[in-house]
Amino acid sequence: AGSGKFFVGGNWKCNGTKDSINKLVSDLNSAQLESDVDVVVAPPFLYIDQVKNSLTDRIEVSAQNCWTGKGGAFTGEISVEQVKDLGCKWVILGHSERRHVIGENDEFIGKKAAYALSQGVGIIACIGELLQDREAGKTFDVCFQQLKAYADALPSWDNVVIAYEPVWAIGTGKVATPEQAQEVHAALRDWLTKNVSAEVASKTRIIYGGSVNGSNSSDLAKKEDIDGFLVGGASLKGPEFATIVNSAT
Ligand code: PEP
Repeated sequence: AGSGKFFVGGNWKCNGTKDSINKLVSDLNSAQLESDVDVVVAPPFLYIDQVKNSLTDRIEVSAQNCWTGKGGAFTGEISVEQVKDLGCKWVILGHSERRHVIGENDEFIGKKAAYALSQGVGIIACIGELLQDREAGKTFDVCFQQLKAYADALPSWDNVVIAYEPVWAIGTGKVATPEQAQEVHAALRDWLTKNVSAEVASKTRIIYGGSVNGSNSSDLAKKEDIDGFLVGGASLKGPEFATIVNSAT
């Protein structure tokens, strides 16, 4: 872990029912969480209100996506204003499932990022290479290009957390080794130093995501440039998520 406050986000994706979410919230409410960690969960939109009304204030709530601008005639979309109205402090953007399953591109994601920040909602800005990119030696190229798209769009770097999530590690059980993750995190920080500023590079938290669980998180957390985690599958289990939250200490 680096010098910034450790940050752990739980991405519940498109999972859960009113009942299963009640149970998860109650497990989270009774978990012992280290005080020096920012903890955030991202329920599906439909359950955000339920979660906000039942979850301890110790844990902040994030949306998993948002529209690119102010709400209006955009059938099926959810605006940043609405997400904020329900009490969300964060929104996850650029997740690999939205890039590669739904087809969002860098420009579209950049617009969302800029608009969310302009409305005072923090962003968890995801990037990450496909397995074929890694095998072709293009990991840095792909990650830098995705990072540059955010950099070109963002009005400021306050309220931004970068999530490095190699696509081959998401939901596959194949976690990056601490060395693989550290190598990319260090390169991203270096990119920020050279292309944004030394201040932004040192203050921006870079978290890792991809098959993080209660058994592998503490080794990853020891690495200098790993400032936290974005957790998918394991965030659906309250006690295991708490173990991950507490893994930096
Ligand atoms: C994610 O969806 O951001 C993620 C990292 O998923 P998982 O932990 O299940 O690999």
